[in-house]
Amino acid sequence: MKATITNLYYKLLGKKQRYCCKDCVKNLYQVLDGEATKDQEDYFRSHINECSPCFNRYEIDKSVKEVIKLKVEHKEVPENLISSIKNKLNQNS
Ligand SMILES: [Zn+2]
Repeated sequence: MKATITNLYYKLLGKKQRYCCKDCVKNLYQVLDGEATKDQEDYFRSHINECSPCFNRYEIDKSVKEVIKLKVEHKEVPENLISSIKNKLNQNS
């Protein structure tokens, strides 16, 4: 059933649309920023177990956030971090 719901999202939104759920994109940023409440975080984590578009999105945004943080701190960005983001983006397209 879970897979069917995901398929339905794809059908409705098209394969290119990866942000299936508006609410979890909002939650995603709060979780990434450490501003989510425990309930929000629990909800989000159980959601990404079932929702691969959101999981991918979370993985990518987490990596991008890491790159931004390193850049802000004027630290070297590891090559493998960049290539892992590229890989994830390619997997999704
Ligand atoms: Zn989702």
